[in-house]
Parts: sequence; structure tokens; C-alpha cells
Amino acid sequence: MTAQQAITSALTPFLDGVAKRLLIGGEWREAQSGATLPSINPSTGEVIAQIAAGDAADVDLAVRAARSAFEGPWSTFSPARRQDLLLKFADLVERHYDELNMLDVLDMGRPVGKGVMASATLPVRTLRYYAGVLTTLHGETIQSNVPHRFAYTKREPVGVVGAITPWNGPLQAVLWKIAPALATGCTIVLKPAEDASLSALRLGELIGELDLPPGVLNIVTGVGQSAGAALAEHPGVDKIAFTGSTATGKAIVRAATGNLKRVSLELGGKSPNIIFADADLAAASTGAAMGIFANSGQICVAGSRLFVERRVAEEVTERVAAIAQGLRVGNSLDPETQIGPLVSARQLERVSGYVETGREEGALLAAGGDRITDGALAAGFFLPPTVFSGVQDSMAIAREEIFGPVVSVFAFDSVDEVVSRANASEYGLAAGVWTNDLARAHRMADALQSGSVWVNTYGNFDPSVPFGGYKASGWGREFGLESMDDYLNTKSVWMAVNSAEFDG
Ligand code: NAD
Repeated sequence: MTAQQAITSALTPFLDGVAKRLLIGGEWREAQSGATLPSINPSTGEVIAQIAAGDAADVDLAVRAARSAFEGPWSTFSPARRQDLLLKFADLVERHYDELNMLDVLDMGRPVGKGVMASATLPVRTLRYYAGVLTTLHGETIQSNVPHRFAYTKREPVGVVGAITPWNGPLQAVLWKIAPALATGCTIVLKPAEDASLSALRLGELIGELDLPPGVLNIVTGVGQSAGAALAEHPGVDKIAFTGSTATGKAIVRAATGNLKRVSLELGGKSPNIIFADADLAAASTGAAMGIFANSGQICVAGSRLFVERRVAEEVTERVAAIAQGLRVGNSLDPETQIGPLVSARQLERVSGYVETGREEGALLAAGGDRITDGALAAGFFLPPTVFSGVQDSMAIAREEIFGPVVSVFAFDSVDEVVSRANASEYGLAAGVWTNDLARAHRMADALQSGSVWVNTYGNFDPSVPFGGYKASGWGREFGLESMDDYLNTKSVWMAVNSAEFDG
């Protein structure tokens, strides 16, 4: 065991230096190729674990296990039994949350004490929400116009779900897919992000305590181009539930055409956060800063385009820049840290590339911009919160998702102008509006083309409120009752009430 492994193993015994395996049909096994991948702590650049690098052969085994569980023991579970199981699952996550959170902290660099994801509330509430609503699932009896025929509908699970998740909120993203899949009676092959698979693997160990038949939840770690692509194209998979980038979402749609499997997509964004001059500027500036800098900007709903009414644009830019400069950047394990590292060297390079492009295109840096290259953080992947002013709508930093702590500030003069500029994006995931004018708040909520609009707040989530994207930000919704539709088929059953009258 290396010195780093000794430290991490003291934080969670799960990190014992032994390579992590795949969960297939209730058994832990190595990838058939024997290949592994390193998990790296982005605060230090050090390897904290090895995980199995699964590929198409492992995915195939996992899909077969999921199919056999779906057709076998899992199909006999009544809604009440699935409810009981999900409630126990929620208790299990609640009991072990500190360890699961610690694994995400070490694996992807989220600060240990910060943000909605540092608390057990949302993951546990997610499982309990689906445990509650699953007992309300029902079909309908329908007054058909065909004489002497009775028609009713049934809701049936789609079957085997391939869940592919990103690294930015590792445990959260996994539970957002597992919970509705189990609630509706589907089985799952989960492919977590290669940059942050550890909490999913620990979850796979913990579910051993539940009344869950082998093969209902399988976990195949590995890289996207191999394990992920194999899952997306596998003919034995009935649905892909994907969260990740828009480019990968498009690849998944193409791969899904083989058996025309169902696809739901939670994708990227370039979300506008809009501050009117009449808003509480202190609250709006804090909301705007945390709307982009939380989780080092690695949040799909990050408010990366900050539109400010011209007469307060300079003041708000100064406020946001001052907040950016005052945020404490540090190792994710330090409880005082507010901004952790980016997830990987690759992500740091990508985000730094955008900062460079912004400078070259003539935008002005009001805060941050340079990666931290000295002191204790030099070995990690740190970029301080960065604010650009003087940004033109046509610049790359104004149009493309950066997925880092970089915000572009734009001045605007009128409601119509800001609506049109805010909507002039391929994305439509989220938007923020800051104003004390109620009529204008409603007008903006109507006009913005995005799946979520936050007014005088930003970034709230609750399992009962649907979440998802317009345009290239996705298909379908997570959370809310309608999220269940993505995991269900509707079957219409016709029955003769007088069979003697059958006439074809
Ligand atoms: P990514 O698309 O690179 O990877 C996401 C997942 O897809 C990973 O598990 C990866 O291994 C897998 N993958 C990669 N290529 C694949 C392929 N060809 N076939 C199948 N699977 C493949 O995204 P990321 O970098 O992990 O996450 C960041 C992106 O996710 C950002 O664009 C962000 O906006 C988006 N995101 C969206 C939401 C949302 O709810 N809308 C939430 C979080 C993140």
C-alpha cells in the first residue's frame, strides 16, 4: 500500500488497495480482459484505487444477468415489496452517507462540507420519493366506442435499463437513475463515469444487505468508448438512461438505433442567469457567483452566461469578481475549502483552453484565469473562479459549455433583447432571473426556453419537481411523476364482453 493509499484507507476502509471489480449477477468479478483503470484524487493527482476496465464482453454478461433477473425473481415483486425495498435502500444510504460522500470527495474533488451534494438529504429523499409514488402507478379503464368491447391499460416496466452517468455528482446521478428503475420494476446495468466510479461500487456492496435478487442491479465500470458504447448498442437493453455531454448523447442516440431502444438524455447547458437593475443586487450577485462557481462550475445547470442590465452591469461585475476572489480554493478534504479542483488533468486543460481562447478573442479578465501552479495545490487540478467581462455573444466562451468555474458577463438594455440573446443557444437546460417586478418575473419565466427557471434563487432540486432540458439539453425528465413514464410501457388490453358477437 502506498502512503496515499494508507491515508485514503484511513478515511474509508473501502479503499484497501485491492482493485475494484464489476458487479454482475450478484457476483464481484474482474473484467474478462483483466484490465484496470486508475482512480485519481484531483486534489493531489495521486492514484487512490484501481477499478476494473470493463468492455463489451462484460457488458454482455451483465445484460444477460439483468434480463434473467427481470424475467425471473424480480418480476414476482409486488409494488409493496418494491416500496419496502426502496425505503430500506434509503435508510442504507442515510446510514452510510458519510462514507459514500467521502468517496466522491476523494474521487472527483467536491469539497467535503459544501453544497447540496455534501448532504444526505437529496439522495435519501430521492429514494423515498420513488418508494412513495410507485404505489400510485396504475392503468385506466377506457370507455371505448367499439360495441361489447372493454378496454383497459396497464403500465409495465420497459425491461433492462442501461444507466450511463457522469462524474460531476457521482452518487447523485446514479441514484437518480436507480430509484425510478427499481420503482417501476426494471433491472439495471449501470456504467458509472470512469473518473468517479467509487461511490457506485461501494453502493453495489451495500445493496448486499437488501432483499434484491442477484442481477437486478449490475455495475460495469470502464471507459465510455468501450463499456458505455457497448451498453448503448446492446440489443438486449430496452432503454438507456443517460446523463452527460450533448456530444455523447448524440452518439448514444445513434447507437440506440439497432434495436430502437428507448433513450432518455440529461445533457449539457449554457444557462443564462439574468439580473435586472431592480433586483436585490447583493443577493443576485451571490446567487450568480454560486450558480457558476459551486462544484467548480462542473454542474450541468451552471449559470455560465451572466446577463446584467446595463446600468448596474459594472457594479454587479465588481461584486461577482470580489466574491470570486474571496472564495477559498483548496484540497477537497479541507472543511474550509469552498472551491475544489477540477475532476482531472484533462478537464483542467480543457477549461484552461477556453480561458485562453477568451483572452485571445478580446474578453477582459475581471478575476481568476490562471491555474494554480505553486504551493500545496500545484500537484492538483486547480483553476480559481474566473470572471470575464466585455464578452461578445459570438465568442466561443459565450456559446460553448465550458464545465468549469468560468462566467461571462454581458450587459443588456431591454427585456426583449435579453430574452432573445438568452434563448439564442443550442441548449435549454436552466435559467435564472433576478427582479423584484412580479409581472416581469412571470413574463421571463414564460419566454425563456429552458427546462427549469429559477426566480430570485438558483439551482434548487427536489425529487417531486421535474428536471430536464429543452433543445440540445435533453430528452425526457428526471424527478416528478413524469420521470416514471420513461421507464414504463403502456399496454392496451381489449376484451370482448360478449364473445359470441366476434366479427373480426
Ligand atoms: P461524458 O458525456 O463525457 O460522459 C458521461 C458518461 O458517458 C460517462 O460514464 C462516460 O464514460 C460515458 N460515455 C462517454 N462516451 C460514450 C459513448 N460513446 N457511448 C456511451 N457512453 C459514453 O460527460 P462527462 O464529462 O462525464 O460529464 C459532463 C457533461 O455532463 C457536461 O456536458 C454536463 O453538462 C453534463 N451533465 C448533465 C446533467 C443533466 O442532468 N443535464 C447532469 C450532470 C452532467
